[in-house]
Amino acid sequence: MSTPNKSPCPRCDRLGGDVSPRTIRHHIRQAWQWEAHASRYFYCDNPACAVVYFGDDGSMIPQTQLRAPDAKQATADALVCHCFGVTVSDAQCNSAVRDFVLAQTRDRQCACEVRNPSGRCCLADFPEKVGAGGTAEMASHD
Ligand SMILES: [Zn+2]
Repeated sequence: MSTPNKSPCPRCDRLGGDVSPRTIRHHIRQAWQWEAHASRYFYCDNPACAVVYFGDDGSMIPQTQLRAPDAKQATADALVCHCFGVTVSDAQCNSAVRDFVLAQTRDRQCACEVRNPSGRCCLADFPEKVGAGGTAEMASHD
């Protein structure tokens, strides 16, 4: 409890999960110019907030400083799985995609810590499973 793994974003107040400097270094522009001065960093996932990373020393890294400045925008073309390049619409239209990512994650073939800006496994962000039951049929939608 002395080291909570969440902290409120100084810009929008939403709780952000902790993230390693290693993750930040894989997403920030001109990584060679960035030094981790804070002892802990957190990721703000609020799409409306201009801040992406913030440190416990009060430092903030804005979206514009990322190589993919639209990483937080949840459009249909946005990546939900950064390891395998799965877009939101890929995942929504084909339940086999989720199974594929699940299997890769189980075999530790994913690279969430460096590929995902949040540093976390993408499965939590996947759209709800399409279709129910044991069959892998595509859900019908309008
Ligand atoms: Zn924020």
